[in-house]
Amino acid sequence: PLVLGIETSCDETGVGIVRGHTLLADALASSVEQHARFGGVVPEVASRAHLEAIVPTMQRALDEAGVTLADIDAIAVTSGPGLAGALLVGVAAAKGYALAAEKPLYGVNHLAAHVAVDTLEHGPLPEPAIAMLVSGGHSSLLLVDDLAHGVTPLGATIDDAAGEAFDKVARLLGLGFPGGPIIDRRAREGDPASIAFPRGLTAPKDQAAHRFDFSFSGLKTAVARWVEARERDGEPVPVADVSASFQEAVCDVLTAKAIDACRTNGVETLVIGGGVAANSRLRILAEQRAAKHGIRVRVPRPALCTDNGAMVAALGARLVAAGVAPSRLDLPADSAMSLTTVSVTG
Ligand code: ATP
Ligand code: MG
Ligand code: FE
Repeated sequence: PLVLGIETSCDETGVGIVRGHTLLADALASSVEQHARFGGVVPEVASRAHLEAIVPTMQRALDEAGVTLADIDAIAVTSGPGLAGALLVGVAAAKGYALAAEKPLYGVNHLAAHVAVDTLEHGPLPEPAIAMLVSGGHSSLLLVDDLAHGVTPLGATIDDAAGEAFDKVARLLGLGFPGGPIIDRRAREGDPASIAFPRGLTAPKDQAAHRFDFSFSGLKTAVARWVEARERDGEPVPVADVSASFQEAVCDVLTAKAIDACRTNGVETLVIGGGVAANSRLRILAEQRAAKHGIRVRVPRPALCTDNGAMVAALGARLVAAGVAPSRLDLPADSAMSLTTVSVTG
């Protein structure tokens, strides 16, 4: 099916068009620069930027794919989770286009879309798979038996998300926003073994209740304390070494728990999605550790890991192919949508 996907859950206005697993267009407009001086996404600013960008981004995607709205089989849109005002712009636009062009509308979960996007690069997802979702607002391990119909959460962060930890650590190092890509870059000149930062929820006592959960807030505090102590002593802060050691702590825990989840569930495929999946060290470490256990790692190219419209279209295509019922035209924007709701049906 030819499916158009609209994404407006945070600060990227994205419209993607796919035919089955083939990506035809991925138009993106970002308001990230407007938020940078605030050190985080400002919801009102994001909503206004989506309003201004949605129609031109839609047009760019259609032009890029060389199709018209009449050619499209279905329209998918992120209906949650995310910023309420930002989601509303995408949902309202999708309803307008669906109504005008008489196309079925699919309200989808942004997080499931982060998992689905890999199919555009590597083809159909072998199921069951373990999905590790690591983004700005979420860090979860999921068992995926059939992505079109649901996912089973195995564990999640009990405090900060992985991307949030990257952003907070970058901020305390004075590196700018968003922090993930900057730390990734600075870490390349640093020694990942130079500072022993804590690995949250990996102690033997955590195995029972938190085997597949994450905690990154203690790590962030440990980095802050370490940096403060250096400054108090009047010593320069070795930004590259701190970045590399922090990044190593995050990637060590993420990959160890993801592989444990695969082995415990007898699953041979690990798919990684969300903005942090763009991290160069995470990609290498996951690949190395998985190979030792005969587990295949699937992670899309970095541009598909962060928010975009193609991921929404990819999930939409999967839903259409699986014969899942579309959403009604009174589809709500659900800022707190549960991870287990893949799409809003009926
Ligand atoms: P969610 O998907 O949970 O709603 P979001 O949509 O804001 O959150 P994404 O766009 O999926 O998040 O990811 C953004 C996050 O990814 C930011 O926290 C950013 O710092 C992080 N990130 C992006 N690139 C990298 C990288 N190379 N290394 C580490 N983190 C990265
Ligand atoms: Mg973003
Ligand atoms: Fe996201």
